[in-house]
Amino acid sequence: MSKQEDFVLRALEERDVRFVRLWFTDVLGHLKSVAVAPAELEGAFSEGIGFDGSAIEGFARVYESDMLLLPDASTFQILPWRATGPSTARMFCDVVMPDGSPSYADPRFVLKRNLSAAAEKGFTFYTHPEIEFYLLKGVPDAGEEPVPVDRTGFFDHTPQSMGSDFRREAITMLEAMGISVEFSHHEGGPGQQEIDLRYADALSTADNIMTFRTVIREVALSQGVWATFMPKPFTTHPGSGMHTHLSLFEGDHNAFFEAGAEYQLSRTGRQFIAGLMRHAGEISVVTNQWVNSYKRLLWGGEAPSYICWGHNNRSAMVRVPMYKPNKSQSTRVELRTIDPAANPYLAYAVVLAAGMKGIENEYELPREAEDDVWSLTERERKSLGIDPLPKTLAEAINIADSSELLAEALGEHVYDFFLRNKRAEWEGYRTQVSAYERDLMLPVI
Ligand code: GLU
Ligand code: MG
Ligand code: MG
Repeated sequence: MSKQEDFVLRALEERDVRFVRLWFTDVLGHLKSVAVAPAELEGAFSEGIGFDGSAIEGFARVYESDMLLLPDASTFQILPWRATGPSTARMFCDVVMPDGSPSYADPRFVLKRNLSAAAEKGFTFYTHPEIEFYLLKGVPDAGEEPVPVDRTGFFDHTPQSMGSDFRREAITMLEAMGISVEFSHHEGGPGQQEIDLRYADALSTADNIMTFRTVIREVALSQGVWATFMPKPFTTHPGSGMHTHLSLFEGDHNAFFEAGAEYQLSRTGRQFIAGLMRHAGEISVVTNQWVNSYKRLLWGGEAPSYICWGHNNRSAMVRVPMYKPNKSQSTRVELRTIDPAANPYLAYAVVLAAGMKGIENEYELPREAEDDVWSLTERERKSLGIDPLPKTLAEAINIADSSELLAEALGEHVYDFFLRNKRAEWEGYRTQVSAYERDLMLPVI
């Protein structure tokens, strides 16, 4: 038994924990949870807890459905939203096959595998997400417009506003779970919020995002409102993104930093961006996995529509933020495509794989976009070599269908399951007759 596992067993007694929730994530990014009694934990650490994998989206074929959850003791936390009475704790789990080998369908393992590949080349991958979401008065009835909790906008401070009370409570809870928050504010849409997490290694960030989505929903419910991470809940208001700042470290050294280089961005940093750009179309189906994700990307409003990079250019897909003197460790690139309804494990896995391809194959970085790319004409963009991102989930699926990078980064099983699932989503969507069509046609045709 490891020291951390020992610590957990002692904490269970000292904190009077009655339930331990074992958390894991399905391929589409939904959090799954099984509660076990504390007495089961010693066995869980050594042998795992069995469950029927075929009941979980994307996990197993029915004939090989027995799987085990192995709790990761380093993720042990008491849940702060069950504050009265005996405590409840949680741990993230790895999913393994009965023979102890990792499950090929566990998103956490997919990320770990890509992190190890980067580690073999000497790199650690750090990420820092800016998570946006809307607070609504409730879940609207089918066909109804959602109603946001306020009418304020970007950085607005309204005395006694729902948003600032909400953020204070949510952040207190996140910090109680060991998740550091760097920044928070009201975003551009009515009821839209943003909370930015402090940078951490990508596996911790992905775990933190899963916890974040749960904490935000719990706090919203406790305040009688509804939180949604849907990328584009309103036609006329901005969508919710999850811009993520990325950097690679070699030991203590930020591999994206080079003193005196343009924007202090090293050759490695430039190649990484070139990888993100060349493979942007292929990884889109994972970073923006829903039909609805593409409605966010078409709107402008600081969500990218074109594959380009720029220094401080908020219309670009990749932005190199302003360099802060004396902070060489902070050199990073901001990827603006990802949305908060992605599976964070898979999204960071494919983003890393794309960037690493750029480094391994020494891709040349195209010229930076200096203009607001939305204000250029189609012809101007073409002459600058700026291609659009996929405009629909169907387009993203088609590109992903022939992507070796994606198959390699996700592993064959997740790749197949994921694309099959996404094709079904698109079929379901495209066969619907919408309110938009009826409004357009019934009165006149
Ligand atoms: N809400 C915008 C998006 O969908 C981002 C706004 C911002 O720049 O923070 O990506
Ligand atoms: Mg924002
Ligand atoms: Mg941003």
